[in-house]
Amino acid sequence: MKFSPPQYVNNLKCLVCGSSYSHGNIFTCPHCGIEGILDVQYDYEAIVQNPKSLPAASLRQAGAIRNPQSSDIWRYKDLLPISQEIPLPHLHVGWTPVYDVPRLARYFGLRKLFLKDDGRNPTNSFKDRASAIGVMKAMEFGFNTIACASTGNAASSLAGLSAAVGLKSYIFVPERAPEPKITQLLIFGATVFRVKGTYEQAFDLSKQSCDQFGWYNRNSGTNPFLVEGKKTAGLEIAEQMKEHLPDWVVVSVGDGCTIGGIGKGLQEMKQLGLIDRVPRLLGVQAEGAKPILDAFASGKDLIPTGTNTIADSIAVGTPRNWRRAIQQVRSSHGEMVAVSDEEILEAMRVTARLGGVFGEPAGVAGAAGLKKAVEQKIVKSNETAVIVITGNGLKDIQSAKQAAGKEHLVEPTLDAVAELLEKQLKL
Ligand SMILES: *Cc1c(COP(=O)(O)O)cnc(C)c1O
Repeated sequence: MKFSPPQYVNNLKCLVCGSSYSHGNIFTCPHCGIEGILDVQYDYEAIVQNPKSLPAASLRQAGAIRNPQSSDIWRYKDLLPISQEIPLPHLHVGWTPVYDVPRLARYFGLRKLFLKDDGRNPTNSFKDRASAIGVMKAMEFGFNTIACASTGNAASSLAGLSAAVGLKSYIFVPERAPEPKITQLLIFGATVFRVKGTYEQAFDLSKQSCDQFGWYNRNSGTNPFLVEGKKTAGLEIAEQMKEHLPDWVVVSVGDGCTIGGIGKGLQEMKQLGLIDRVPRLLGVQAEGAKPILDAFASGKDLIPTGTNTIADSIAVGTPRNWRRAIQQVRSSHGEMVAVSDEEILEAMRVTARLGGVFGEPAGVAGAAGLKKAVEQKIVKSNETAVIVITGNGLKDIQSAKQAAGKEHLVEPTLDAVAELLEKQLKL
């Protein structure tokens, strides 16, 4: 079956040399190679001229007809690179809640602070926004199988979204991948190859297999369409918060697609007239894996690094989308900071205890970075911020246990409880 191309996509433009290519199943710029990440360009004038396609109109529509299908990322269908003819996945992706958290704000020394909880996506991470587009593009281009290499959230979200639309998924994991994460893949029916080697070897093998066996490649970084899914969080922040648009949007950074996408979404909402300014982006990396921060600080090209952090979802030594990340941070007059594992563990505790949201280490790294940025007066105490919590804390119980402290073993008697309470009070 042949599907029509996305209605409002003009072309794909190289972020390095600026060359444009027509829409199709291509990945990077043929001139610039792997560095030449492509950006999807839209005909915004046509979108604006169609009153039905404005997000504000779909918002009204959603309120009027209470169509739950439109209170997710598909409310922005016209701003996404998808064919109008393909049925949408039934899972609820995006339109995650934004919480006002005054106790956490006070703790950080900020006037007002919000958490946007993206752990509430179908497979419990921000990656579902990208995978939702990934499966749509696989179907549009006529694939019945989609593949990636990952042990983390990209893999579980691909497995889940593939299951939802009836695509086969093949996932390559390194030999040392943790058992719980592999189980999450298998339960969704993914075929999992445990590669006897490193992550890099698993990555290369997945790419070769896509070419050889005709599978669609969801390997993040270089696929130009996935970042458009990530953009929806920026569109949502603009729409959900337009009454009290924050001064800062805080995002953890690994490959750079998330912050690059969110920045693009905010820019688009300004272009479409929904907001009149773009909030500043605060990008947060782990001290043990901060090549994008280093390139941001030096103004030079990125130099790959090793990785050493508990925040496995942002432990990326060779990020693919660093140019997009830095471009977006700069054009928003934003900043970048790095945080230690201790600061991340503390952020896990305080976002849970003062904000009621339980995030994985990479999920709360933004919170740790915001605290540091306030201390360093990058963010002023009279300013406001929203932190995107990118993944749920149950994804990584090992780290959560490190942050959480210990339970008390107690005899089943009231005296024993009383005795323990007394001891605790004395401490
Ligand atoms: C992937 C991921 C990120 C970072 O996204 P990039 O696009 O790699 O920068 C942050 N947090 C979580 C939980 C993730 O899974």
